[in-house]
Amino acid sequence: MKCPNCMGPIGPDDRTCPSCGAVLVLEKKPNRPEEENGWAVRHLASIMGRIGCAVMVAQNALVLVASAFLIPQAISFLNGPSRTVDLTGIATLLFVANTIDLVGLGLISVALIVLGVGSIFLRRRDPFTEAEVMVPTSTAIFPMAAGLLVFLWVLLTAVWRIGDPAQAGSTAAEILANYAIRGPAGVPPVFGSMMTLWVVAAIVLVAGSGCLRMFVHRLPAKIVSGRPTRPSSWLYFAVVNLIVTIGIAAFPLGIVAYDTSGGPAQIAFLTFLATKLTFVPLLGAFAYWSLLTRFDVFGKLSLLVPVLKAIPRRASTAPEGAATMRGDPGMPTAWAPPPSDDDMVGIDRVK
Ligand SMILES: [Zn+2]
Repeated sequence: MKCPNCMGPIGPDDRTCPSCGAVLVLEKKPNRPEEENGWAVRHLASIMGRIGCAVMVAQNALVLVASAFLIPQAISFLNGPSRTVDLTGIATLLFVANTIDLVGLGLISVALIVLGVGSIFLRRRDPFTEAEVMVPTSTAIFPMAAGLLVFLWVLLTAVWRIGDPAQAGSTAAEILANYAIRGPAGVPPVFGSMMTLWVVAAIVLVAGSGCLRMFVHRLPAKIVSGRPTRPSSWLYFAVVNLIVTIGIAAFPLGIVAYDTSGGPAQIAFLTFLATKLTFVPLLGAFAYWSLLTRFDVFGKLSLLVPVLKAIPRRASTAPEGAATMRGDPGMPTAWAPPPSDDDMVGIDRVK
């Protein structure tokens, strides 16, 4: 073991350093999370991530509300004979829902990158084993990759959902509804590339949520947080979302032949579309809620490593509540004698 003050060798039973005379103080339990290196960075990531997740929960709830408004139309559409869908009543709701998830996932993407940076700061040398406990860079890279992938999702989604339809003078929801009614004849040529980007974005989201799962999986056992880390359902949601998205896009992309006569192809397409508007957002609301609690945990990461502090002799006051160095980790620690008034005069608390 080495003295943190002068780096001189110290014995396991030394209460003061034989080289520089500093008083050795050992805190056996992990520090409070806010006392760990880089806590402010991880706390910032945690706040941004939680806000982003709250926005996503609200977005999924808005989509559910919008689909509830569509139910009467859906029933009359299936009964026929009038096969029209009027989206004007819920256009604002759809526009808001389709815009704020760009904001929500944009916040989550930045939060994940900041989390990756903040996890690199979380490191401390174990005074007994001399091993430095830390998040390896090969692990810290995963939330950064997840953040970049989520950011890519935001870019791809902005293009297919806002940029491309605007060029065609329409909205994505209207184009999809027109396709459902009239088939390929009713949609602009850009629809094909829109559907391709939609599937690519869904794949990117699966990759991003998988990267975050990898990060949690690879965290060293000595990195703990206040509460148990249950797995987030974000990855499962992303996988279901991808399957349903492929189910919808397979028709416009010509992988499955479409008909507008009420045959099996139209029923399958409308079923996938209805699932995307009901089951997927319901699952999404729960998934982003679980991701919100996960971000809370990320803000409280700390190291299960004892802290050895050396307080130079001239300023030798042990911090309140700290135990003096006794060497053998199995032995009970002795409490440091309370500092006298003389010791405290003119001396700031040494951290
Ligand atoms: Zn020393």
